[in-house]
Amino acid sequence: MKKLALHWQILLGMVVGVVFALIMVKFEWGPEFVTKWIKPFGNIFINALKLIAVPLILASLIKGVSDLKDISKLSKMGGRTIITYVITTIIAVSIGLTIVNVIKPGKSISEDTRNELVESYKGDADSRIAAAEKQKESGPLQALEDLVPGNIFNAASDNGNMLQVIFFAIFFGIGIILIPDEKAKPVKDFFDGFNEVILKLIDLIMLAAPYGVFALLAALVVEAPSTDLFKALGMYAISVVIGLVLMIFIYALLVYLFTGKKPGFFFNGISPAQLLAFSTSSSAATLPVTMERVEEHLGVEEDVTSFVLPIGATINMDGTSLYQAVAAVFIAQAFGMNLDFATQMGIIATATLASIGSAAVPGAGMVMLVIVLAQAGIPEAGLALIFAVDRPLDMCRTVVNVTGDAAVSMMVAKSVDKLGEPKAREWDENYKKK
Ligand code: ASP
Repeated sequence: MKKLALHWQILLGMVVGVVFALIMVKFEWGPEFVTKWIKPFGNIFINALKLIAVPLILASLIKGVSDLKDISKLSKMGGRTIITYVITTIIAVSIGLTIVNVIKPGKSISEDTRNELVESYKGDADSRIAAAEKQKESGPLQALEDLVPGNIFNAASDNGNMLQVIFFAIFFGIGIILIPDEKAKPVKDFFDGFNEVILKLIDLIMLAAPYGVFALLAALVVEAPSTDLFKALGMYAISVVIGLVLMIFIYALLVYLFTGKKPGFFFNGISPAQLLAFSTSSSAATLPVTMERVEEHLGVEEDVTSFVLPIGATINMDGTSLYQAVAAVFIAQAFGMNLDFATQMGIIATATLASIGSAAVPGAGMVMLVIVLAQAGIPEAGLALIFAVDRPLDMCRTVVNVTGDAAVSMMVAKSVDKLGEPKAREWDENYKKK
């Protein structure tokens, strides 16, 4: 029998979890059984995801920054690429924030459900509230002061500060660039390998995803039997999807404005890569196809695609950043927190950084969401809340991540005069011969 694809397994886990919990609530002992014997597995799964966050940032950011050495050679193209990537990411986060503040998906959760939710994660919520209180007493330069850790292990600890870890990783990466090649190579090779190991660990954790989702959903259903939670989750998913669809149209518009190429041409060229992104949930896995489509069907020359697209697959994740912004505010709303303007601005910064640090593999965006939550003082326990719908949203945001890379490569190519006519016809002929 053919093995079911992971996303189907996860979907199955979700459905079975809900059905199982609905049966369990019929028995008097059912809910307690789920809380005592099923929920811990969900918690273990969430913990495993959180566990991987710090090593993931260290490995992927150090590797990413130290790889930027080539940019000094390709400074013109490199500078434009990075700037365009950052601008599109900021646009994406801003769209996400606007939509979630207008739709307010988390607000429809009733007082009771919210209280139950807060109660079930009380310890976590309490420590966050205490941290937020402390934050209020601090001076205007506190954020800057907090950026530089006095001790990297404290920064990486459970109550640590993810931005400090990011600062350390970028600082370390710059150090690697500045030392002689022969000394830098073993360090880079180490982090390269380290990064591979971390990606493998994410793969392994994702193998448990169907069971983790089963446990999380079952616990969610027995503990919060009110339907308003599911309604809210649906509204949250719709908010993310509206933002993502909007983003796709913005790319088409930008491509048209910067290169004069019509939306039909753009979508026609990139759609197979989009479909692959949807079914694999991984920009990295899609990269070969993205490169081929952008080169052969969108007319971008190879020296641009080979530089712009691999960097894009690693650091440009507009769909992920948009999703992180919506998810963070949704969780805050669900916990009855009101995020002020400054905190929301902070989310733009952390979601941009977190999406840059996300690996191009399934589920990475949700792992990095921990950073956005921690920084905004939102209970990380909220991850349990959104996990149920994360996989389908992962599929959709990966489509946007890949589309964004393709759009930026066309704009950069145009600016350095390397956008020509697609060689597709010639390519199709060759392909048929094979
Ligand atoms: N799966 C996404 C990607 O590979 C990353 C994420 O989880 O948001 O692009």
